[in-house]
Amino acid sequence: MIYNQNENNLEKHKKTKKTLKIVGITMLVVGAGLTITGLVSFFSAMGTSNPPKLFWCAFVGFILLGIGGSITALGFQKEMKRYIKNESVPIFNEMGQEIKTGVTAITQTINDTISDKKIICRCGEENEQGSKFCSKCGSPLIKTCPNCHNEIETNDNFCNKCGTKLD
Ligand SMILES: [Zn+2]
Ligand SMILES: [Zn+2]
Repeated sequence: MIYNQNENNLEKHKKTKKTLKIVGITMLVVGAGLTITGLVSFFSAMGTSNPPKLFWCAFVGFILLGIGGSITALGFQKEMKRYIKNESVPIFNEMGQEIKTGVTAITQTINDTISDKKIICRCGEENEQGSKFCSKCGSPLIKTCPNCHNEIETNDNFCNKCGTKLD
């Protein structure tokens, strides 16, 4: 019920804005036309003895321009706001992206520091815990304990389950 009412208000609001835009722009156009007419009349009458008959048009035109401008500004308020908002959004996005990248880097560093030791291949490459083969040279990083068949890192000297010495 409330939703529908809001929807109606929004629709009404949109219509009002549209009317404001049309009226505002019309007034601006008419105002500009009247101002030009008035000024043309004024300047063309300058050299003659005739009084500028249409000079009043300039006054009316000025007033119309003022009112029309205000109404148009009111009608385009939302667009202007949206424009300003859109202008500032990319900056925030960029900032957010940078913050995210920074946080990810820090998190990664912390994880690396506190995580279990890496599996170091004989080639020197550090491989993530749980890796079965070296990501650089492809050598197997895991071997099976001959006694309990537990999976152990190739670098380990003893099985961490049964203590069997490994070669
Ligand atoms: Zn390797
Ligand atoms: Zn074992």
